[in-house]
Amino acid sequence: MAETHELTRNQHLVLDALSGSTGPLSAYGILDRVRSEGIKAPLQIYRALDRLVEMGLAHRLESLNAFVACAHTHAEHEGLAAFAICESCGRVDEFADLVVEERLAAWSASTGFRAERTTIEIRGHCKDCVAAGR
Ligand SMILES: [Zn+2]
Ligand SMILES: [Zn+2]
Repeated sequence: MAETHELTRNQHLVLDALSGSTGPLSAYGILDRVRSEGIKAPLQIYRALDRLVEMGLAHRLESLNAFVACAHTHAEHEGLAAFAICESCGRVDEFADLVVEERLAAWSASTGFRAERTTIEIRGHCKDCVAAGR
């Protein structure tokens, strides 16, 4: 299991930038936030992101081509990660669902499809935006 103390300095900086952001960040958005720490090259960001995603500390939102820090600790991260993305305010809520994961695993087993990566992204409007009529 990955622990944050195993992270390199760059990985720490990138994770801090993601954790400190209210919404998802693109690689360039992250670069803007860590430039003052001496990270200048997008490649350094991509390398750190690859590793963070691999360790489950961050997730890539395919539809936005952006990244978020994982909302859970590893102990809590059970089931497939799913994301509800608000198109009005940009808020992203992560949740995990074991039932969905089991269903997809059963489907993979029955069809013989070997799944390597699954991302569930629900686009819509969050409760606050719906209430505010946005
Ligand atoms: Zn997560
Ligand atoms: Zn919203």
